[in-house]
Amino acid sequence: MARFLVTGGAGYVGSHVVLALVERGDEVVIIDDLRQGHRAAVPEGVELVVADLADRARLAEVFAGWKFDGVLHFAALSLVGESMRDPLRYITENLSNTLGLADAAIRAGCLRFVLSSTAALFGFPERLPIDEAARLGPVSAYGESKLMAERGLEWAEQVHGLRSASLRYFNAAGADPKGRLGEDHNPETHLIPLAINAALGLGPELTVFGTDYDTPDGTCIRDYVHVTDLADAHLRVLDVLNEGRSVRYNVGNGSGYSVREVIDTVQRVTGRPVPHRTGPRRPGDPAVLVASNTRLREETGWTPRYAALEDIVRTAHAWRAAHPNGFRGNASQVAA
Ligand code: UDP
Repeated sequence: MARFLVTGGAGYVGSHVVLALVERGDEVVIIDDLRQGHRAAVPEGVELVVADLADRARLAEVFAGWKFDGVLHFAALSLVGESMRDPLRYITENLSNTLGLADAAIRAGCLRFVLSSTAALFGFPERLPIDEAARLGPVSAYGESKLMAERGLEWAEQVHGLRSASLRYFNAAGADPKGRLGEDHNPETHLIPLAINAALGLGPELTVFGTDYDTPDGTCIRDYVHVTDLADAHLRVLDVLNEGRSVRYNVGNGSGYSVREVIDTVQRVTGRPVPHRTGPRRPGDPAVLVASNTRLREETGWTPRYAALEDIVRTAHAWRAAHPNGFRGNASQVAA
């Protein structure tokens, strides 16, 4: 058994990772300011410290109170569009929180660190699928903030021996297959939950951001990776860090689906039409983003169990249909 500190552990990806850690018998302490996270997403028995990561005194107290075998850092500002309206806030907050957390971990002698990074590091990719050797060139302040965070961690390794794993997520989607957790953002900006909400009458008509891309059906292609598979990647990467080296992995299914294919799948799974209309392109959206997951598979043995778009949409729909208000009004906590 090991003990991990998880920032943003009450949020979407973080909560699925916390559940996976608890299920394998690890102990978890969460720091979450609950701006995006939900108390009801925290499993019973898991310690939740409600705090802002900018509160360094509080952070030091947490490291003084427990001895951790590793830190998993999910808490961040993560909306690409918002980052282009407020770039300095994104870069300042994401970078300083990551490096402040790494500094506190190093001072406490905790030298394993997993960073939630992003495919946004690659901007408009030169070739597909995108492997770890691809050129780094973010086209948003969000992507830039994560690239800077990765670089900061590289210096922390060189000077202090902090071993880190940067996981570049492609499009995290889906929900816990046992129905205990799901995706509940406010505001919701992601395609799959928006399409499901539109189908169920829980949200507005969907706007398709552009139908004139150079793709077979004219809509953007993305690599949707199931959040439970993403959680499994974190568990495996922690084991790699035990072996004593820093790593960077692109985490995706390795296959892409268009916005139209997502809409069709949501219609099939829900049995209802997805009300939608065509709108303009969203600035900064590349036509196609698909990961090469070869390195992750070869070095960690990871294989996605829910790779089919159908499985991703089915689990997301099941959770939303059972929780039309999301975690709101959900007083009881998740039982692991
Ligand atoms: N998308 C869309 N309408 C929406 C939200 C998203 O057409 O209301 C498209 C978007 O242009 C992209 C894909 O769906 O091609 C996935 O977008 P999302 O915001 O879910 O994730 P991102 O790729 O930005 O991380």
